[in-house]
Amino acid sequence: MVLDDLGSSLRGTLDTLRGKSRISEEDVEEVVKEIQRSLLQADVDVSLVMDLSDRIKERSLDEEPPKGTTARDHVLRIVYEELVDLVGESTDIPLEEQTILLAGLQGSGKTTSAAKMAWWFSKKGLRPAVIQTDTFRPGAYDQAKEMCRRAEVEFYGDPDCDDPVQIAREGLEATSDAEVHIVDTAGRHALEDDLISEIEEIDRTVDPDRSLLVLDAAIGQGAKDQASQFDESIGIDGVVITKLDGTAKGGGALTAVDQTDSSIGFLGTGEEVKDIERFEPESFISRLLG
Ligand code: GDP
Repeated sequence: MVLDDLGSSLRGTLDTLRGKSRISEEDVEEVVKEIQRSLLQADVDVSLVMDLSDRIKERSLDEEPPKGTTARDHVLRIVYEELVDLVGESTDIPLEEQTILLAGLQGSGKTTSAAKMAWWFSKKGLRPAVIQTDTFRPGAYDQAKEMCRRAEVEFYGDPDCDDPVQIAREGLEATSDAEVHIVDTAGRHALEDDLISEIEEIDRTVDPDRSLLVLDAAIGQGAKDQASQFDESIGIDGVVITKLDGTAKGGGALTAVDQTDSSIGFLGTGEEVKDIERFEPESFISRLLG
């Protein structure tokens, strides 16, 4: 059965339904309360949690369980389907030539994710290159270069140039043999106008196939503003959630997914280049509920 490693209290509540063939309103309320508790603790937006709860309640009571299905399995299936609907399938990342633009605030993990994604593509047999256009954060160039060395992938940056758009353009030319171009951009501490106009110009210059928003798993409700601003300026096709090796569960990223009508592509699970995973709805849901 799906969702084998549910949080223990949710599993306990569901297990009380084990022997029953019919489900009561109180039973469903109990299950929904447990799910709400876990999701809110994981930073999922209140209105998303409420919508989900309503749908689970409605379907559990309205839909007739298929013959031979216990009340427990009936509710569990509905919970699972609704959660998959909420988190979505992973962003489509075809294994072909492409340009990916990374956006996000400073410290969200863009530079690290750029090198990790390049490593991931190289393991899939494609030739990647990282182009570092962050001229704003001191140390970004050295950090990106070092990480690309560790990932054994091509790197382009220019520490003597302070024009990110020029670096992006020259970077694409200089790495024209690469099949996958990952363009890292500068962040700021907050969403400032110059950040947005800079990334819009880079976006026009590199004409990416997909733009991914990089978010720290601990982002919480701040995800909403960031997601809508970046989506308005460059269009967001997917989200990368970083620092999932910490205690944060990344539920805030669902707000970004909802806001941008996109999905989650990659997860960052550590500081090393290999610490990257493709997003998978099932394990992410288990984590949110766990
Ligand atoms: P940027 O400013 O968006 O480019 O962010 P960086 O890539 O420099 O990341 C900021 C900090 O977060 C650095 O210290 C990274 O090592 C760390 N970091 C990035 N991704 C992860 C991750 O998945 N897990 C952990 N533990 N740390 C990460």
